[in-house]
Amino acid sequence: MTDDHPMADNVAENLAGVLAEIRRSERDHGRAAGSVCLVAVSKTKGAGEIRPALQAGQRVFGENRVQEAEAKWPGLRAEFPGVELHLIGPLQTNKVREAVELFDVIETLDREKLAHALAEERAKRGRCPRLLIQVNTGAEPQKAGILPEDADAFIRLCRDELNLPVEGLMCIPPVEEPPSPHFALLAKIARRNGLSVLSMGMSADFEAAIQIGATHVRVGSAIFGVRPPHRQNG
Ligand SMILES: *Cc1c(COP(=O)(O)O)cnc(C)c1O
Repeated sequence: MTDDHPMADNVAENLAGVLAEIRRSERDHGRAAGSVCLVAVSKTKGAGEIRPALQAGQRVFGENRVQEAEAKWPGLRAEFPGVELHLIGPLQTNKVREAVELFDVIETLDREKLAHALAEERAKRGRCPRLLIQVNTGAEPQKAGILPEDADAFIRLCRDELNLPVEGLMCIPPVEEPPSPHFALLAKIARRNGLSVLSMGMSADFEAAIQIGATHVRVGSAIFGVRPPHRQNG
């Protein structure tokens, strides 16, 4: 395979299929209709591949790199009003200014240094995106996120001491494990801290996430087709 994306022609169709599955999962698992928000993950995809999703009415998108999003989204936003952009990849503190300017939601608040940088940026410009704290539910050494046992204290720091707009939690379970215990752990941490937003579930496992209470599912390849493997990290 070269850089040929077999499903790229079918973005609108794929999107409709994913939305139908989300609505069906809501019904099957006793979730309120429309209570799960689809974050369409458009990382590595060009404007030409993203446009059909926008034309079909999708407005919430996820990107994992600040610079890549800066190159694509100002133009697309000018074409399509009402876009809500989520940062779902790691945020370096030297990119905080750009990220605060561009994103509506940052899902990857994962360390104290970043929390302080976001608080400073908000003090400067009087605005801050809505925030989710990333929890490393599998305690994987190579993965970003707060360890589950440190989550309560970190939530208190961000929300209560720094007064940041923390709305919920996000996780990326280990690829080689069943995801449901990780989703359940995230839901439990959110519940005991009074947080209502749960971003969990991707193309392969969003139904399980919806069953366990996801309010946001992040779906990329099932909509836009497979990505080149070396860009699949996140
Ligand atoms: C890439 C990515 C996704 C989407 O993954 P798919 O398997 O393509 O649906 C979701 N969340 C994060 C954090 C990602 O980096």
